[in-house]
Amino acid sequence: MTQQKQKKFNIPLCKPSFNASELTAVREVLDSGWVAHGPKNKEFESLLRDFFHVGEVILLNSCASALEAALVSSGITGEVIIPSFTMSATANAVVRAGATPVFCDVEWKTGNIDASLVEGLITKKTEAIMPVHFAGFPCDMDAIMSIAKKHGLRVIEDSAECIGGKWNGKFAGTFGDAGCFSFWATKNITTGEGGMVTTNDTKLADKMRRFRNHGIDSDHRQRAELGTWYYEMADLGYNYRITDIQCALGLSQLRKLPDRLIRRQEIAQRYNKAFSGIPGIRPLTLVPEVYHAYHLYVISYCPRGSNTSRGDLFVKLHEKGIGANIHYIPVHLHPFYQKRFGYQKGDYPKAEKAYEQIISLPIYPRMDERDIRRVIETVTRIAEVYAA
Ligand SMILES: *Cc1c(COP(=O)(O)O)cnc(C)c1O
Repeated sequence: MTQQKQKKFNIPLCKPSFNASELTAVREVLDSGWVAHGPKNKEFESLLRDFFHVGEVILLNSCASALEAALVSSGITGEVIIPSFTMSATANAVVRAGATPVFCDVEWKTGNIDASLVEGLITKKTEAIMPVHFAGFPCDMDAIMSIAKKHGLRVIEDSAECIGGKWNGKFAGTFGDAGCFSFWATKNITTGEGGMVTTNDTKLADKMRRFRNHGIDSDHRQRAELGTWYYEMADLGYNYRITDIQCALGLSQLRKLPDRLIRRQEIAQRYNKAFSGIPGIRPLTLVPEVYHAYHLYVISYCPRGSNTSRGDLFVKLHEKGIGANIHYIPVHLHPFYQKRFGYQKGDYPKAEKAYEQIISLPIYPRMDERDIRRVIETVTRIAEVYAA
């Protein structure tokens, strides 16, 4: 592909928020003389445990690594049921772990895995369910946990997009055996690249800590503190660690998360209200059990039953300097998954229909009143032309 100049948007799809507190935190680490995995990692993990009310937090260099660590350390090599409507990273982790992804169709209203279809996919080889909390909208975790319990399956949540979202008052990513989160640049809090696993299983946590650290049972700092050189490597591991520079960023970001979730909610409510009467536009359906983390603000756009105009809306918004995007191309449509596992177009009709109609609109805490109004007015004007 030729290198293209990155398009400048007046209102991008998302934008990380940093201020003096991040700069101070990062400078402190640089001045400390220790920039790799170290004390800030411990401090960030501790704050995350308190925030999410979980027993263990393991920080890693990405959510992709977090998913892989959770699967490999749980010893999962059989079939794993995942929604087709997700980022390819969810399925890729299953493949990297040596297990087989079995796709499940999604609920049309939310884009989340359709729990009522999961049981029909369970075979003797099924070992786990991996729900994905799409866009920050928690899945029906009551239904998923009860299916898992009935069939003796593990649950590993992909909560990359759902930092701070809740199902019945409990944080998404804290229901299953492990919950995986992303701190990538666009997510609700960011460390540039980064991720974590939450769990209440101490043994699993220890395994994942070794997995991220070359398979070794102690890290460099621990040995320095104990004045020893000796360590053991019992399992194969990788270097999936996160740096203290990133942890300093994360600590600062996490403290701001509650306020930023409120801001995301406010923006989403403005959009919901503005778009509810516009023909062809349907925001995702909310349910009372859900506190939406609004990593993405997603609408389905389908004026007069035609699927073609969503692409036009995308182009027109970009022309107006508004950074819309499409999340996601269903994973079973990617060439790798078709070639390797024989999936075909038509296998998951609801995921495909969702893909044809959804579009993500700008949402980030620093959007001001003018930005919000501009997105609403631009989307409304384009939709009115199509509805005419
Ligand atoms: C962002 C994302 C990931 C991958 O996160 P990284 O930290 O970039 O590896 C995985 N799953 C979902 C649903 C995501 O949105």
